[in-house]
Amino acid sequence: ISRKREEEAAMARAEQLRSNLLRSISHDLRTPLTSISGNAGVLMSDGENLSAEHRSRIYRDIYDDSMWLINLVENLLSITRMEGQGVHLHMETELLEEVIDEAMRHINRRHEHHTIRVNQVGDYILADMDARLIIQVITNLVDNAVKYTPAGGKIAVSVVLWEMYVEIKVTDTGKGISESNQAAIFRRFYREEEVHEQQGVGIGLYLAREIVTRQGGYIKVVSEPGKGSEFSIMLPTK
Ligand code: ADP
Repeated sequence: ISRKREEEAAMARAEQLRSNLLRSISHDLRTPLTSISGNAGVLMSDGENLSAEHRSRIYRDIYDDSMWLINLVENLLSITRMEGQGVHLHMETELLEEVIDEAMRHINRRHEHHTIRVNQVGDYILADMDARLIIQVITNLVDNAVKYTPAGGKIAVSVVLWEMYVEIKVTDTGKGISESNQAAIFRRFYREEEVHEQQGVGIGLYLAREIVTRQGGYIKVVSEPGKGSEFSIMLPTK
């Protein structure tokens, strides 16, 4: 009987997860999709009469919105994989500098009002990781830093080598997170405000923590409301 109860509880949890996911996803898909189809419509009906500058802004918006959707789908796929049977990690020794370069190529390009600096990564710092997933984590952290930092803010990515860990640190000068929320933000679907002016589903940090802990590391945040936040991915060195 107790096994049956457990199974039922697990099914109820899975069902709850599915409906939460559907609710948040359908809402979040609508905005970029409406904007992509609206922009494509403008190009089709009036494209020739627009200035080259205006046209290229529309192309860029279409590109950015679709990249945003791709990133969301990538996150969802990773979550599904993590929560499915036996995740297969592809652990390899990687050069931190290359991993960070690659992540910076994936970040959302809507950051023209922020300065993003990647501090010189020491030569030949290595760590074992599943690079594809860690790139996804860094991308999520930098995108968050941009999202939750007002225009004019500064974002920095740096690497610190400790005795047992390599730290990949993303700092911002944004709105910060109150101490009482600093644990909650890593929960699935948790967003600090029900209705943010920023698009999001509340899975980025949850996924980041899952990915990093499964690779033997951990993720932490130091933050002060109104001043900014510092998220660190700690990966074990060999
Ligand atoms: P999403 O950004 O889709 O809401 P995340 O899981 O990435 O989901 O983040 C959860 C919440 O944590 C965000 O909704 C936001 O309230 C808060 N947060 C995340 N990163 C930052 C940051 N750099 N500065 C301030 N708040 C943040």
